[in-house]
Amino acid sequence: MGLRANRKGSDYMHIRLSHGITRDSIVDGPGLRAVIWTQGCSHKCKGCHNPSTHDFNGGFLMDIEDIVEEFKDLRLHRGITISGGEPFEQPKVCLEIAKSAKVMGLDIWFYTGYTFEELINKKSKKYKQGWMELLKYIDVLVDGPFIEDKKNLLLKFRGSDNQRILDIKKSLKYKVPVLLEEYYDKDEILIAK
Ligand code: SF4
Repeated sequence: MGLRANRKGSDYMHIRLSHGITRDSIVDGPGLRAVIWTQGCSHKCKGCHNPSTHDFNGGFLMDIEDIVEEFKDLRLHRGITISGGEPFEQPKVCLEIAKSAKVMGLDIWFYTGYTFEELINKKSKKYKQGWMELLKYIDVLVDGPFIEDKKNLLLKFRGSDNQRILDIKKSLKYKVPVLLEEYYDKDEILIAK
């Protein structure tokens, strides 16, 4: 099924994407995954692999109902991954997508340039409404900006050593970042602790 791109308006039923959904990814989290690429990012990481995703007016708007329709065709998929750009700049629409994916039994990974600590700090100037609600629907968060000096091609599902793969249910429960150790080698775990 093809996806309809909607360029009219920008209410809470539309998400701004950089390009169409990747239906069959095996590099954006475990198993077969559908990946949604959000448009808009202000982190300005040096060495960013995709600067065309930074412009908040770039890309195109898509009706989230069309994205959910696309999920109905997923058969062998383990989950969805929402990446960017910066997905946490569009928390309300990302929440609607995450809720629908959860109902369909799909697990949910998110990539963000924010750190977990920034996302849960309600006193921070960066904190945005909707972040906490969204975090509650996420299974795994890959957090932190890409740091070129810490780039490491050997890492699984991450680009630089500072980025972390977090079990969000446990991280929210204990209010500290909890690593998903299955995606780290033993030396990395010792350093992280
Ligand atoms: S968070 Fe991602 S998209 Fe944004 S500047 Fe950093 S690497 Fe690029």
